[in-house]
Amino acid sequence: MSDSKSPFEIIFSYPVVLFDYDRTIMSLAIDWPAARESCRAWLTEKFPGFATGTTERMDEMEAAAIGQFPDRAHDIFEFRRQLEGSEMEEHTPQPEVISLVRDLAAPKDARRLFIISNNLHATVKTGLRALGLAGHFEAILGIDDVGLPKPSIKAAHLLHEQYGVDLQKSILVGDSPSTDGEFCRLAGIPYFNIQPFTTHCR
Ligand SMILES: [Mg+2]
Repeated sequence: MSDSKSPFEIIFSYPVVLFDYDRTIMSLAIDWPAARESCRAWLTEKFPGFATGTTERMDEMEAAAIGQFPDRAHDIFEFRRQLEGSEMEEHTPQPEVISLVRDLAAPKDARRLFIISNNLHATVKTGLRALGLAGHFEAILGIDDVGLPKPSIKAAHLLHEQYGVDLQKSILVGDSPSTDGEFCRLAGIPYFNIQPFTTHCR
């Protein structure tokens, strides 16, 4: 993106750019409030003794369940597997951000791009492939890869330890101040909130 007036200009000064997925690159056609209630009922049934409040997002409930049943993360994500696995055709692309990814990935810049998502690895991978973007990202860290959702900074530790990413040279592009923004605050990474610059975000 060579236009100096671009709102995204600051992002180009970072050699490592981390992206959220849902409502940043694509929007999943999932009724999250309804899914949250179904997930709560499912977790309560499958994990006797599971205790949670009444207002949590689905990823917050998953984090709470993993806190109570740390050896069962794979099982805890089963509800999400069924939910996200059935909705792939309905994803809505965010054209502004897709253009941004293509510009950031221009070979001359040798920039490193990663995804850190509270969605499943397979959901993100399928969506990126459909957009022709999969090759632009060095790695996808889905909720099932990391084992804990943002704002846990476990994904930041993985990036540093497994990929040698210098977090001081990284910026994260996301849509959720409470999830993406809080992750950045806790990890000491600058946060670029995409929401004012995209068409489809609510
Ligand atoms: Mg998001």
